[in-house]
Amino acid sequence: MHRLETLPEAIAERLKMPVEFSLRRVINATGVILHTNLGRAPLSRQALDHLVEVALGYSNLEFDLETGERGSRDVHVESLLLSVLGEAANLAGFAGAHRAIVVNNCAAATYLVLHSLAKGKEVLVSRGELVEIGGGFRIPEILSASGAILTEVGTTNRTRLSDYEEALTLNTGLILRVHQSNFSMEGFVESPRLAELVALGKRANVPVFIDQGTGQLGSFFSSAGAAGGFTLAHCIAHGCDLVTVSGDKLLGGPQCGILAGKKDLVERIRKNPLFRTFRVDKLVYAALEATLAAYFSRQTEQIPILRMLDTPPEQIKQRCERVVEGINSRFSAIVVATESVIGGGTAPNAKLPSYAASLRCPGTDAPALLSALRRLDPPIIGRIQDEQVLLDLRTVEPEADSYLIAAINGIPSTTGEAAS
Ligand SMILES: *Cc1c(COP(=O)(O)O)cnc(C)c1O
Repeated sequence: MHRLETLPEAIAERLKMPVEFSLRRVINATGVILHTNLGRAPLSRQALDHLVEVALGYSNLEFDLETGERGSRDVHVESLLLSVLGEAANLAGFAGAHRAIVVNNCAAATYLVLHSLAKGKEVLVSRGELVEIGGGFRIPEILSASGAILTEVGTTNRTRLSDYEEALTLNTGLILRVHQSNFSMEGFVESPRLAELVALGKRANVPVFIDQGTGQLGSFFSSAGAAGGFTLAHCIAHGCDLVTVSGDKLLGGPQCGILAGKKDLVERIRKNPLFRTFRVDKLVYAALEATLAAYFSRQTEQIPILRMLDTPPEQIKQRCERVVEGINSRFSAIVVATESVIGGGTAPNAKLPSYAASLRCPGTDAPALLSALRRLDPPIIGRIQDEQVLLDLRTVEPEADSYLIAAINGIPSTTGEAAS
């Protein structure tokens, strides 16, 4: 209704627009919740409202409203972040002994830690964790670019505490653990428990730094079997010295990298002149603050990806049934059982039972139908399985269901002929 009322204005606005936007909204019906190509985590309404309010005018980004003097941009999310982390890890007094800063992404946060604390020093990494995260982020390369010296320990499948112990020298700067977030190893595998690694770091007086990556705070959606025990809460509860995570993966916030850790270490990192080159703007602080507020006030259902993860398959099935009923007989549409994935290189083995609307169009093959869906406005992105186009509604906001029906029915019937 609301959209209809504002339609004349929307059309007038569109006509005034000199160009078609390149970056556009799309409907993600792939069932991949954190789809890196589709912008990873969608933001919550609350995050967007806060962002709009902050960005539409001026803000106190670096202005202390108490004193009327110059302030620091770090303050806007730091205490909220530390409270949320301390609470997730069930650690009273966590906020007092720790600090947190925000940069552009997790890759930048990791680079900044290495450059600030381990330039010219050795960094111990298990051979099983010398990973490529995707998009050109490879642990050995980021280490060497930062000026740190990689010391490989253990083997690909098995690394023991003694391997770390024997590799320690007077020039060891950090012990780095990298979350194997986008792959898993099975079989004859072993690595020391985090508690053992942290204890070793303490004995040797070498900070233990974890690139946790996924930003999965706790095990609040253990039903999905995501990311096992390697949560942010787990890292913090075990007393790691530094941890970096991505803001737009399982945390469900804007693209950014969050770095949290022991006060003195984070302060050294914060003083690195490179921090200035990686810092984020007011839009990110606004969106992140509102996202963290949802965790703080236990209203995580505000966060779209957490809603998607939690949606019961039955509910998705019912929506698929309604969509299928609405699609006209030019198509053959049925409801099929499928599996959604978490994606974003976070939990490679986690599969969530789901349902999809399966589409076929006589005279049109599946790739042609898939591309006709992509040409809609907004485009609908599906996937092909067994020569059908599947639209998994887990990753579609329910408000978009009626658009799906209308848009599919409106696909020109010449699609088939044009494509054949
Ligand atoms: C995703 C990921 C990164 C990179 O995060 P970006 O925010 O995309 O830079 C780094 N490390 C791990 C373990 C990751 O999972």
